[in-house]
Amino acid sequence: EEDIMTNPLYDALVLPHRGGEKTFLDLDGKGRISFGDFADLVARIATVLVENGVKPGDRVAVQAPKTPETLAVYLACQQAGAVFLPLNTAYTPSEVEFFLTDAAPRLFVCDEAAKEGYAGLAQKLGVGLLTIAADRGGSLPAAAAKAQPMAEVVERAPDDLAAILYTSGTTGRSKGAMLSHDNLLSNTLALTDIWRFTGDDVLVHALPIYHTHGLFVACNIMLRVGGTMIFHAAFNPDAVLDAIPRATALMGVPTFYTRLLASPRLTKEHVANMRLFISGSAPLLAETHVEFEERTGHRILERYGMTETSMTASNPYDGERRPGAVGFPLPGVSVRVASTEGKVLPQGEIGILEVKGPNVFKGYWNLPEKTAAEFRPGGWFITGDMSMIDADGYVHIVGRQKDLIIAGGLNIYPKEIEEVIDAIQGVIETAVVGVPHPDMGEAAVAVIVAKPGLDLEAVKATVGEKLARFKHPRRYEIVAELPRNTMGKVQKSQLRESYKDSFT
Ligand code: ATP
Ligand code: MG
Repeated sequence: EEDIMTNPLYDALVLPHRGGEKTFLDLDGKGRISFGDFADLVARIATVLVENGVKPGDRVAVQAPKTPETLAVYLACQQAGAVFLPLNTAYTPSEVEFFLTDAAPRLFVCDEAAKEGYAGLAQKLGVGLLTIAADRGGSLPAAAAKAQPMAEVVERAPDDLAAILYTSGTTGRSKGAMLSHDNLLSNTLALTDIWRFTGDDVLVHALPIYHTHGLFVACNIMLRVGGTMIFHAAFNPDAVLDAIPRATALMGVPTFYTRLLASPRLTKEHVANMRLFISGSAPLLAETHVEFEERTGHRILERYGMTETSMTASNPYDGERRPGAVGFPLPGVSVRVASTEGKVLPQGEIGILEVKGPNVFKGYWNLPEKTAAEFRPGGWFITGDMSMIDADGYVHIVGRQKDLIIAGGLNIYPKEIEEVIDAIQGVIETAVVGVPHPDMGEAAVAVIVAKPGLDLEAVKATVGEKLARFKHPRRYEIVAELPRNTMGKVQKSQLRESYKDSFT
């Protein structure tokens, strides 16, 4: 064997870059970091981790601003054989307390600006505390500057854990997905290949790095190929538009694309250097897809994945990128559509998507029963997403099983109603949710964002024409905007709560 990997992720993502002079992170007016300097930073932080008692297999929790140092902690964990555990920067101290108690990390890296609030908690839990500041100061960068770069790379097997990533908490309490080196690396290699990334690519990186999309999809690919990332601390449409003439690719959530479309600066000429726009983490409206193509000549490439599986399906690079579909399973990944009982359904029927492959996680941290309940024999993971595979093999995500409405014993798929209402002139977007109903068990409520002057009677008439009576929403509301989290996901549980007393 020529290529015995001693630490799969480190060897694939960092080792080749030691000493490299090319720019890895372009901080967009605030300096540049070469690949070699990044590898050195990783090695110094690895030393700091070890000095703080981190041993192979230990968790390192991080809730810190998006900085090069924060990203380097992820790779330093790999070098030191530790498990990286990033947390959403929006979580409050009481939410963080749950994660730190659940995951029992050796070390917690928090925002320098929040350290007073965490000192007591860290002490109570016996967890070491270091900080990173938004301006790249803080105790961890200071310690790294003084540390010797760690020479050793701790040996890891492909099945060893690289990260615990908590799910977004859209449908309930977040669960910690245990991801191995091979889970992450296999996905990176597949995506690099199907999306044709090379060292010539320059990616505009405006996603958070505590979520699979901005962290593992974006950063792993760019480290793998040795491409440059224009690294923005947060998404700002104007800053993204400023960067686009120097870039070749953008990864975004659907909200990025609707916000970019709102700018008159988005034109064919402006995106002339770009080769690829990717969307995921939430459904892209077919209308956004069409409008974006009209404005830029580019068809957004939509893909589908989740924390537990990394990416599962993608529209093709060559070939038709189908609006409303998430494309084909990745190479090496298998999907099937099954009933709630696990019976595999014929092509074209709607059921629950199940996934199998090297990308599928090792289980939920501390939740063996939940893990057992979400897998079928043979290693099929039950995603909880309702889906349908069309005659050409494209996977369509129809919505979440938990959002399915059952009215008088009949299934109502919110997406079907949302699509009918979205297509009406004057409607911007819609969310349909089920709430308790005394006769039907549940009834649909349509929550609509509209341009001024939308006539609700006309909306009801269209729905009446297009959809069977049992599917008709029993209540319509016009709102200024839909509640969304940082990943652009509509918070349907919040809507269900707001309208729960509609019929009782
Ligand atoms: P939780 O599991 O805690 O309720 P979550 O499922 O929102 O939260 P993530 O793992 O961040 O947490 O999100 C994965 C989900 O996002 C998928 O299961 C799917 O419902 C949705 N999703 C991702 N990409 C797409 C897409 N392209 N189209 C439609 N839905 C998508
Ligand atoms: Mg989920």
